[in-house]
Amino acid sequence: MGLLSEGNPLSWEETKQLADHVRKHGIEQFINLYHRLKDREGDILKWGDEVEYIIVDFNEEQKRARVALRAQDLLTHLNEKEAADPEGVKSLWRPEYGAYMIEGTPGKPYGGLLAHFNLVEANMRYRREEVSALLKPNEKVMSITNFPRLGSPLFTAPEYLPTPEKELSAARSLYFPDEAIYPGHPRFKTLTRNIRMRRGEKVQIKLKVFKDKNTVLPVEGAPEGEPDVVQLDAMGFGMGCCCLQLTFQACNIEEARTLYDQLTPLCPIMLALTAASPVYRGYLTESDCRWNVISASVDCRTEEERGLKPLKENKFRISKSRYDSIDSYLSEDGEKYNDVPLTYDEAVYNRLREGGIDHLLAQHIAHLFIRDTVSLFSEKVCQNDKEDTDHFENIQSTNWQTMRFKPPPPNSSIGWRVEFRPCEAQITDFENAAIVCFVVLLTRVILSYKLNFLIPISKVDENMQNAQKRDACSAEKFWFRKFSSKNLCGKPNTSVNGKCPEGLECKDNFELLTINEIINGKSGGFEGLVPLINTYLESMEVDADTHCTIQQYLRLIQKRASGELLTTASWIRKEVINHPEYKQDSVVSDKINFDLLTKMTDIQEGRLQETSLLGQGNNSKTKDTIPAAIEKHQCNGNC
Ligand code: ADP
Ligand code: MG
Ligand code: MG
Ligand code: MG
Ligand code: MG
Repeated sequence: MGLLSEGNPLSWEETKQLADHVRKHGIEQFINLYHRLKDREGDILKWGDEVEYIIVDFNEEQKRARVALRAQDLLTHLNEKEAADPEGVKSLWRPEYGAYMIEGTPGKPYGGLLAHFNLVEANMRYRREEVSALLKPNEKVMSITNFPRLGSPLFTAPEYLPTPEKELSAARSLYFPDEAIYPGHPRFKTLTRNIRMRRGEKVQIKLKVFKDKNTVLPVEGAPEGEPDVVQLDAMGFGMGCCCLQLTFQACNIEEARTLYDQLTPLCPIMLALTAASPVYRGYLTESDCRWNVISASVDCRTEEERGLKPLKENKFRISKSRYDSIDSYLSEDGEKYNDVPLTYDEAVYNRLREGGIDHLLAQHIAHLFIRDTVSLFSEKVCQNDKEDTDHFENIQSTNWQTMRFKPPPPNSSIGWRVEFRPCEAQITDFENAAIVCFVVLLTRVILSYKLNFLIPISKVDENMQNAQKRDACSAEKFWFRKFSSKNLCGKPNTSVNGKCPEGLECKDNFELLTINEIINGKSGGFEGLVPLINTYLESMEVDADTHCTIQQYLRLIQKRASGELLTTASWIRKEVINHPEYKQDSVVSDKINFDLLTKMTDIQEGRLQETSLLGQGNNSKTKDTIPAAIEKHQCNGNC
């Protein structure tokens, strides 16, 4: 979410009054920053990961695990180190939504050298150890996507009761007490309150329960007439989940637009492959992923905007939450696949065009700006649009989409970047590093071979929904661009000037593939993302350790895709269902939760080699630093 502005949050009424002010100045700020930075060239490939973690309190006597509301205290210590040595620290730590969550990134982004892939896992391990050193003996830092009993009675340590009736409560949740929201910065409670108030009611998240032999219906708290629904009612159920994100710097704005587009169709694929969250509020559900949960958890649209009432107060019907899959491509190649109607204010779009912004970028920004600000600080109301970018960032950073197009921050050495946001957090550093390296390699392959993965946005949307279904990674098929032996796009050595030969753009250019076919290839068709990466790697000089590390990561990805290894979500389901205390009633009890999380800590700390999840003997040659001899050959990315 970028830098958190400090200050005093305005009330919802005041914020609402200033919605058009923020919009107007945000657009001017974007126009100005665009002209300052559009010609920026020659930035090298840099990239970094963000991992979110949950602090868990284990009570051995009671066999209960709860989320530990320790983030603020931990961050005080972690940030002291950064303040003392901002350039030298190996990790950076930031608050997240939950009072039990923290977000860690490497101290500096990585560069364009293949040997940097060796550093990722070691840095993740360092981060975990750094936090662990500050924990009490009964606490663990865990990179799990969702705490399975989040929102179940007394799920926090210390324990708090929700206060749904309290006037001043931010969430008014029946399940999620305000004390579980990060208290150290006003942003989080302010967002919670304002999203609820803008919507005109509490957020509503509905998940189908996984119906087992003895599942009791209606599920506790199910809405009228929907007995098989696990209902959640607070921002914390979504924003209180963890994820794994990646940011890439492109050499210029054009390359950033290309990467933004080409990675978009891969979002649902990576979501299905990293699925890790089948349990909500103590129930097994039909969903394997957090995405729709977060989407609904910050859905600030009014009834009018959601199409439940005729438009009167509001300007538009809006088809998605501000947290969702992107709605339009940004590159010229992408334009013809922009097939979903884009809602935006003509006046805002026209102002962007007058300001010298091209059609595709103008409609992207105008579409982001259909949203009202839901968090405004008094100190930030008046700004200098020539230099400040806070109003632009205000709207940009509360459009939480699968991809984010990030302009360079003011007065920095940072270039145009894109952020890849769909992945779920995995249990171990090994898995998280594998995903990070796989996606970074994909960007290199896409740019080097000028690959084209674009499919219509409507098909990406369809894939996003299928990606979240139970066991989607092995059971579902996904729209993918059609590659055949005649369509040369996928064959690096035979493409003409790196472009698909003319005339291949025909109606049936898309087909339904399994994740296995997408990752490992389909005979006579698409050669597979991992084989493409391997072709790319063959053309590069790679030292032995790096090669070994990368191959282990790619093997994990390949085996998850083929079904030889389970996704984290499938593994969690298996653990719950095989637990001796499980009553075939969909309920993940305190004891099951405790045992599940304990086993996860054994896996994350290497005491248990869980072969159904990780395979045999992973020992990547990951390390803290790379040899000087290799560092010397630091290449400058692809530009
Ligand atoms: P946000 O929360 O807005 O996504 P963060 O500051 O939390 O942003 O994370 C930024 C990520 O970008 C980190 O992984 C960091 O290592 C990486 N990063 C920092 N500088 C650059 C850069 N110049 N190019 C690419 N990535 C960068
Ligand atoms: Mg961040
Ligand atoms: Mg963030
Ligand atoms: Mg985050
Ligand atoms: Mg981020």
